[in-house]
Amino acid sequence: MDKYSKRSVERLYHFQCIHCHKWWTIGDAPEDKEEWWCPWCGKSGIFKENNGFDGIKKPNEE
Ligand SMILES: [Zn+2]
Repeated sequence: MDKYSKRSVERLYHFQCIHCHKWWTIGDAPEDKEEWWCPWCGKSGIFKENNGFDGIKKPNEE
């Protein structure tokens, strides 16, 4: 048995489909991937910009 419990960090990306407007989430999604297929309706969409943040910022980097 391990001496310590484990922890990890996962960045969650939330996508909203332009066709059916439903949301889905991908953990640690690659930033340079622009085309994603909606798991709800199966259609693809192009995602170019993040809404609400500009990449990774460390807490004392403001
Ligand atoms: Zn969809």
